[in-house]
Order: sequence, then C-alpha cells, then structure tokens
Amino acid sequence: MGLDIRTIMVMIAMMTLMFGVLLELAGLHAGNIRGVRQWAVANLCFSLGLSLAYFFTLPTAGHGWAVVAGATLVGMGIGLQFSGIQAFKETRNYWPVVVLMVGLVFIMNLWFAVIRPDVAARAIANSLLFAIGYAACARALLISIEPPLRTAYWFTGLCFALLVLVMLARAAMIWISPPGSYWLYADMPVNPTSFFIACIVLLCVTFGFVLMLNYRLFMDIQKLASRDVLTGAFNRRRLQEEAVRQRARWLRTGEPLSIMMLDVDHFKSINDRYGHPIGDEVLRRLVAIAQTSIRPDDHLARYGGEEFCILLPSTTEQAALNVAERLRANYAAMTIDLTDQTLNSTISIGVADSTQAGFEFTALVAAADAALYRAKQQGRNRVVAYSSMHLSHASVAVDLGTAPSVLAG
Ligand code: GH3
Ligand code: MG
Ligand code: MG
Repeated sequence: MGLDIRTIMVMIAMMTLMFGVLLELAGLHAGNIRGVRQWAVANLCFSLGLSLAYFFTLPTAGHGWAVVAGATLVGMGIGLQFSGIQAFKETRNYWPVVVLMVGLVFIMNLWFAVIRPDVAARAIANSLLFAIGYAACARALLISIEPPLRTAYWFTGLCFALLVLVMLARAAMIWISPPGSYWLYADMPVNPTSFFIACIVLLCVTFGFVLMLNYRLFMDIQKLASRDVLTGAFNRRRLQEEAVRQRARWLRTGEPLSIMMLDVDHFKSINDRYGHPIGDEVLRRLVAIAQTSIRPDDHLARYGGEEFCILLPSTTEQAALNVAERLRANYAAMTIDLTDQTLNSTISIGVADSTQAGFEFTALVAAADAALYRAKQQGRNRVVAYSSMHLSHASVAVDLGTAPSVLAG
C-alpha cells in the first residue's frame, strides 16, 4: 500500500477542520458544560497548523517562519485539548498550560527552523514536546470515576496514550535514521506511518470527546429526573428504584432495612403566617439538617408536600430510632431569623424496619406512616416506632384501608 505523506497531511488538515466544526456543533446546546469549545478550537488549530506547514514549505523545506507558525498552532491545539479536558472535569481553565505549550513549541521551532535550521532535530523536538502534551491529556483522563463517564474517559485517555507512543516512536526512528537523510516529505516509512496513525487516533479522540459530552449530558438529565427541584433531595421515583435495589440486597445479605417517614408539624400554618417562600426555606433547611444527620448511603427523598422518607440500609429499627431522635432534636433547635421575629418548627417521625413490616416498599411505607400518624396523635414533635404500636403486619394492611393516613393529608 503506497502512503503519500502529502496526501495524508491534506487529509488530516481537512479532517481536523471537520472535527472542529463537529465539536462546535456538539457543544452548541451543552449549556454549562465547559471545555467543548476549547476542543473545537484545538482542532481548528491543528487544521490551520498543518495547512501552513504543508502549503508554505513546498517544494523544499525553505520557509522557516511558516514551519514555526504551523508547529506553534499544533502545540496550541494540544494545550487547548488539555485545558478543555480540565475545564470539562473541574469547570476550571488551564490557560497557563496553553501559554507554556505555545511558548516552548515556538522557541524550539524558531531555533531549529530559523536560527539553526535542522529538520531532523526539529522533528524530534516537536515529537517529544507533543508526546509530553498528549501524556498530560492521557493522565488527566485515565482516572477512577463512576460509570458511564469512565468508559468515555478511558477510551479517550487510551487514544491519547497511543498518540504518545506514536510520537515517541517517530522521534526514535528519526534519531536512528542516517544523518542528513531525514526531511518531512522524504519517502521514509516514519513519515507516512506516523502521520497516518495520528490521523486515525485523532478521529478516535474526537469521538471520545463527543462520547464524554454525551455521557455527561445523560448523567445531568438522570440527576434532574431523580431529584426534587426545591430541596435537592431524591424524588419519589428514585426512592422506589432504591427500595427495589435494597430488596435485592436484603435477599443477598439478609440485613434489615429501616425506613423513616417525616412530616413537618403544622406546616400549613407556617405557610399561612409567613408565606410560601418562607415555607419553602423551611423545607430546604429540613433537608440540609437531615442530610447531615444520616449516613452517605442512606437515602433521603421528598415523598410529597412536606413529607420526607429516609431509607436506611443495614439498619435495625432501634438504630433508626436513634438517628430519628437526633434528627428531630437538631431540627427543633434550628431557627430561621425573620425581620422582626424568629421562626421555630418541629417534625414528627414514624420509624419501621423490614423485620416487622416485611420488605415490600408499600408495606414499609404503610408501617412508617402508621407510626407517624401515631406521633401526630400523641402531640407531634416526637418519634414513634412501629414496633411500639403492637400491631401485626396484617393489621397494618387493614389500617391502610381504614385509618386516616397522614400522607393523604
Ligand atoms: P400536621 O402537623 O398535621 O402535619 O399539619 P400540617 O399543616 O403540616 O399538614 P397539612 O398536610 O395539612 O399541610 C401541608 C401543607 O404543605 C399544605 C401545602 O400547602 C403545603 N405544601 C406542600 N408542598 C409545599 C411546598 O413545596 N412549599 C410550601 N411552601 N408549602 C407546601
Ligand atoms: Mg405536616
Ligand atoms: Mg403532611
């Protein structure tokens, strides 16, 4: 197979131009996801840089300044890819890295293309510098992160790692070729092979970036679909999914699952007295306090209105009671300072566990709801355990149909 270096260079220039446009389009509606535009500009730099190097150095390697400009643009492209990756990950730009890369490539090429022209030394130096840039990109992506983003990160990171190998192999091959024999358009395998592989891998890198963007958007939407907008707690849909997962876990481990139902006392009168925005703030405070009172693997969800539900895996009713009591006390101690007065509020909590109520989500909720109803009846601002009500599982089912449920209110 005959690979003509000039054809490949034109191909890469056209392809990277196309990638730039593709990434620009992909990032068009990416909202607050950063970095995509930098990847797009990086590809435009590659395209322009290669075009400069190609068109202005024909037919002989004469035009030193075109080489300097071309290589510097490619260096800038690699710097932008790195900065774009960091912006995507941390919403922080790494402009100093771009400036450093541009500065180093510019000085190196100025030296070897204008001041002391040496095409082999220049190609080796560029290959090594680009390898360092690509290695930084690979390092930034080959990290431990939750799926599905991991798939996209690792795919793109491995592509960058492959580019590092190509650049190092290119430098080594030029190094071992006889002195004076190397120049960019010479028909030696090092040129077409390395350019061809780089061309294919750059295609994969761009695909990887689009994959990263796609997974991030997917995760953002998934997060939006599982959270309550006002408080940031999980919503009911997510809670039910979690309950199914916990049931599977229980079948495996046999460990009990506890549940808490929380309801703000006299919340309607808070709304009536202080207005709905203050009522909303009370709910946000409750969630903030609840989040700090539970473990990271407990699941807090807004069940509806001012009622919240907490699933506590591997927790007995007694342990859940302790957590509930702490949460009740923390919430009762919370105050909201208004202009001329201070707002205090309390919650009632019903607690149940799977050893008493079974593992069906609806049965668990019904048991905790019955305990909550009892807490309200006993005067509010208290915690009641389902087991203390001396009701059998069967009678809860009957209760569901007859007793007025707090959740219905
Ligand atoms: P109890 O002590 O028996 O629980 O009395 P309560 O007033 O808290 O009970 P009720 O269920 O009658 O009142 C719930 C109120 O919560 C009624 C509804 O307007 C209000 N509410 C539901 N969702 C929201 C919300 O998102 N924001 C605000 N501010 N109020 C809400
Ligand atoms: Mg209430
Ligand atoms: Mg209520």
